[in-house]
Amino acid sequence: MNVIFLGPPGAGKGTQAVRVCERLGIPQISTGDILRRAIKEQTPTGLAAKAYIDKGELVPDSVVIDIVRERLAAKDCENGYILDGFPRTVPQAQALATFAKIDAVIDIEVSDEKLTERLSGRRVCLSCGGTYHVSRLNGSTTCEKCGAGLIQRYDDKAETVLSRLKVYHAQTAPLIDFYAEQGLLRTVDGSQPMDDCFSAILSALGEAK
Ligand code: AMP
Repeated sequence: MNVIFLGPPGAGKGTQAVRVCERLGIPQISTGDILRRAIKEQTPTGLAAKAYIDKGELVPDSVVIDIVRERLAAKDCENGYILDGFPRTVPQAQALATFAKIDAVIDIEVSDEKLTERLSGRRVCLSCGGTYHVSRLNGSTTCEKCGAGLIQRYDDKAETVLSRLKVYHAQTAPLIDFYAEQGLLRTVDGSQPMDDCFSAILSALGEAK
């Protein structure tokens, strides 16, 4: 099954994508993770993407389209995948349609107020990718799973969060209608507890057990 996880930043796309991928035995493809890795490794793509990401803007379509086209050609994508954070613009969705057949689009909905609270309180482990909210850390600054230090993502700072939400409404939200018109859209309430959201996604994909 080839699936897209749509939804604003902070909706829980990444967390849910990891769980659903584990359940279905298919890879999660996060353009945000691929770009952050490229920045860490200082590749030409990473160097070009950094300025956009730091400002909360989108990296140019041509860059992410090439990344995804190449990634979907890999052998582990043969039995399906979840695209997490791609497409984010209508031109990206149109390009995707030329090299992939999408079976379902899960739109995870959360209000802007809740997203702002989630993102500005989010802390991530740079080593294993675990994510936490400051309100649950009780002052701890290390990862429960691997013990490495937690950081605030540069683009989770308050000003950048506002610009990411603006970008989402202007450029990514139009994809909701784009995929609804194709009969592919399934909407899930992302403000419910994590386990309930996970079950709702599995039901939406017809995978509930
Ligand atoms: P994410 O981890 O999905 O929130 O992505 C972090 C940042 O990476 C975004 O704010 C964008 O700057 C960039 N990015 C990730 N995916 C895309 C995409 N499909 N198109 C353009 N920029 C992207």
